Amino acid sequence: FLTLAIESSCDDTSVALLEGSRRVRATALASQIALHAPWGGVIPETASREHLRTLIPLLREVLRRGGVANAPRELSLVAVTAGPGLMGSLLVGVMAAKALAQAWELPIVGINHLEGHLFANVVAHDDLVPPFLALIVSGGHTEIVHVRAFGDYRLLGMTRDDAVGEAYDKVAKLLGLPYPGGPAIDDLARKGNPKAFPLPVPMKDSDAVEFSYSGLKTAVLWLLRRFEGAEIPLEDICASFQEAALAALMAKVRLAVARTGVRSVVLSGGVAANSSLRERMAAARQWKSYIPPRDLCTDNAVMIAAAGYNNWKRGVRSDLTLTPDPSWPLASP
Ligand code: ATP
Ligand code: FE
Repeated sequence: FLTLAIESSCDDTSVALLEGSRRVRATALASQIALHAPWGGVIPETASREHLRTLIPLLREVLRRGGVANAPRELSLVAVTAGPGLMGSLLVGVMAAKALAQAWELPIVGINHLEGHLFANVVAHDDLVPPFLALIVSGGHTEIVHVRAFGDYRLLGMTRDDAVGEAYDKVAKLLGLPYPGGPAIDDLARKGNPKAFPLPVPMKDSDAVEFSYSGLKTAVLWLLRRFEGAEIPLEDICASFQEAALAALMAKVRLAVARTGVRSVVLSGGVAANSSLRERMAAARQWKSYIPPRDLCTDNAVMIAAAGYNNWKRGVRSDLTLTPDPSWPLASP
């Protein structure tokens, strides 16, 4: 069973060819980081134009490397990210996927990008079966989801304001670090003292599974004012910010595990690439952690293909009326 998948929800264009549930035949990715970096964030119009430019060459490359360039009908399914994400970006992938499905007479299934992030763990761990909890931490989302079965997702709690990845990006911008901020802060924090500047751990005193990251960003802004005119201790500030940001995540996972009694937790989304978060999750004693390899954490089409195959097996089908939904939620309470 061969699934061809397309991901274009934000600023990465990616195509993948997956055999069965987890064997990667070929995959390719074009990152737009260099294009957006001068502006310190993703410019939606630029992103969709770039997807348009890169998608067909990536598709050709993956089909060729996957050995199906001359026999596209050997494919079994087309899977495509249909939301959440930027409308213009999603449209490029969805329209391409629909054209291929129609031309090659293949079934098509629209995939939720966050369900895709979850499936990075299915690709990476063959022993992973529901029920489990998922900590989804990315540029646009921070939530804990109870996966009762594949396709059966219950939202345990989410952020009230900014996503944790967004906080990394905004704090990096305050510090004059390059976009995206996550990797830059991760590197600097490793050389700093996390106790140098005690910052408030968001939602520490709340007994609910919920997050909040806009206050922490403001706390960093105030901290920076202390150094006006002086040299900024970048490494210590990054380490201190990261300490508070990650302590909040770990505390709420602990709470979710205690509340549900579910003792398996998967880590997913772009922030799952963070070295300290990976260490903290791996060291957890109250639950078993599943951590995907870094290249499957940030946006990619392999995870979309894996989610596509699983959806198809469950009987989920889309058709040529498939339309992107920029704010498609994965789960409700
Ligand atoms: P979403 O998945 O919510 O739609 P997105 O697709 O834009 O958002 P991802 O690609 O999943 O986001 O993740 C990108 C985010 O991950 C960015 O905010 C980036 O700063 C963050 N990130 C990447 N690597 C790291 C790291 N090593 N440490 C912390 N954050 C990181
Ligand atoms: Fe993502």
